[in-house]
Amino acid sequence: MLLDVKGLRVAYRTIYGNLEAVRTLDFALEKGESVAIVGESGCGKSSLGHAIVRLLPPNATYEGKVMVEGKDVFALKGKQLRAYRGNEAFMIFQDPLNSLNPVKRVDRQMLEAIRTKRTMQGEAYDEEEATKAALDGLRGVRMPDPEVILRRYPHELSGGQIQRVVIAMALVMKPKLLIADEPTSALDVTIQAQVMKLINELKAEYGMSVLFITHDMAVAYTVADRFLVMYAGELSELGPVDKVVTKPLHPYTVALVNSIPHKSKKEGDLISIPGSPPNMLAPPSGCRFHPRCPKVMDVCGTVNPEIKQVEDRLLRCHLYD
Ligand code: SF4
Repeated sequence: MLLDVKGLRVAYRTIYGNLEAVRTLDFALEKGESVAIVGESGCGKSSLGHAIVRLLPPNATYEGKVMVEGKDVFALKGKQLRAYRGNEAFMIFQDPLNSLNPVKRVDRQMLEAIRTKRTMQGEAYDEEEATKAALDGLRGVRMPDPEVILRRYPHELSGGQIQRVVIAMALVMKPKLLIADEPTSALDVTIQAQVMKLINELKAEYGMSVLFITHDMAVAYTVADRFLVMYAGELSELGPVDKVVTKPLHPYTVALVNSIPHKSKKEGDLISIPGSPPNMLAPPSGCRFHPRCPKVMDVCGTVNPEIKQVEDRLLRCHLYD
């Protein structure tokens, strides 16, 4: 097992009160496996990713355990934590501009990352070999004119180019765990498909595990082995992608699948989910999905369901009590 998350809770202190973003989450990721974490905005997906790489903001509080290859991530300090980030776990952020230093050229940033990795691994650093690796990374994400891009500053690049530079850095670093938070949202569909293919190739070639955070089930379907569906900071359903898409069991997953556009769907087949995700400063009692659930029962408004194993799925819903 590569990643083991146990009883994870993440909350943020705000001027309006305590905002609970992730509530007692348990799941594991095997070596070479990819899990797509799906759900609407505000369901806790990104907080989960930030907790795994220990990049939560100062107003965040967290508890539980995040273990990567038996290493307690919340206990890492200083050098160990720096070695963990980038070498073992690499996160591609939703906003790619935040990942790059605006006053350093792309080559400096990519070479610095390569040098840090070599040093941490006790290997010699060779600038020429590192430059070749950086160029290969940029070619890997189908970046036109990689030699020119290497000499540019981030402000001289478009949003899509910046996103590709960040993904190229991940390709060069070859981490054990790649956390990709909406990595293709700034890219056009053809590049999107190429990047998904690349992530799959890296997975196959280096046995890399991938946590893919997205609200787009259709994109996640091409790269994931399992779906972890989150709603209001909790696990709703976890299972193999094919089964979750073809036979979703949790009413929230059913609603998400019904809202995926597909050429085979006729007018009226696309059904949006009524209502909005809850205010996490004051989440609903009982099942958090009950105000929007078409299958709601009396018990749902007062008792939050426990997670149950149903065949090869985990489900949080009273329908499966
Ligand atoms: Fe719907 Fe009740 Fe299941 Fe929640 S527990 S998803 S409200 S049926």
